[in-house]
Amino acid sequence: MNRPAYIGRFAPTPSGYLHFGSLVAALASYLDARAANGKWLLRMEDIDPPREMPGAQAAILQTLETYGFEWDGEVVRQSERHDAYQALIDKLLSQGLAYACTCSRKQLEGTNGIYPGTCRNAGHGFDNAAIRIRVPELIYQFTDRVQGEFRQHLGRESGDFIIRRRDGLYAYQLAVVLDDAWQGVTDIVRGADLLDSTPRHLYLQELLGLPQPRYLHVPLLTQPDGHKLGKSYRSPPLPSDQATPLLIRALRALGQKVPDGAAYGQPAELLKWAIERWDAGRIPRVLSMPEAQLD
Ligand code: GLU
Ligand code: ZN
Repeated sequence: MNRPAYIGRFAPTPSGYLHFGSLVAALASYLDARAANGKWLLRMEDIDPPREMPGAQAAILQTLETYGFEWDGEVVRQSERHDAYQALIDKLLSQGLAYACTCSRKQLEGTNGIYPGTCRNAGHGFDNAAIRIRVPELIYQFTDRVQGEFRQHLGRESGDFIIRRRDGLYAYQLAVVLDDAWQGVTDIVRGADLLDSTPRHLYLQELLGLPQPRYLHVPLLTQPDGHKLGKSYRSPPLPSDQATPLLIRALRALGQKVPDGAAYGQPAELLKWAIERWDAGRIPRVLSMPEAQLD
């Protein structure tokens, strides 16, 4: 197959505004793509309407623009991809690779998030049921460009996982794999909160005969209280009048050398400067940024 050299992407979930942590992830994926003369795609992961914050999609695009990011092509929305997800689920069901699960949250208490396989052979109907995919009792492993070797025994550390929820919504795990392949993504640069989802993605890629992208998981910022800066945490939007200083902080968080006192001008100029000097090898495995803006 004739694969292009580099196609990267940023795939925000519109459950809130971009925060400093997502800026760091966006910046890493952008610089890595542009430094490789690659494309950088933007995909809105809007598959969970109940968790979507009204106005978040527009605000995210606006922030990216203000901060000088330029994406290639149209924004892809996962809300427009339901037919593709459903077709895949139908195929997996017909092949016996997926099955309906009627377990309640309560029934799964104490399983530590590892599905014990209760409904595997129960033959439940699909109404009011989640759909799970069977996983093999195998280790999936890969070498992350920053985090190094990462391995997971899917049976023991994940169990059969949900690909369509009981409420009919499609699961991130399925949508992300299908869409990255559909968009020809060769390089995934994202937050390390998704590191332990990646072995499930490798399994789906193998099962579906899809190419395996390269992975780089950017270390997460933590709040002073040790909480991850993440989705459940409602942050204010990144200030539009602070783009250059916040980009400089984000660059430093990524281990890039940014001399003090230099005049970097507009965000787009700063990004151009940073693309020329990008060194992914300098990204730390763990972020320590005492004076980072954490919201
Ligand atoms: N939509 C996911 C998030 O906002 C990122 C998905 C990915 O990069 O694979 O955390
Ligand atoms: Zn079940």
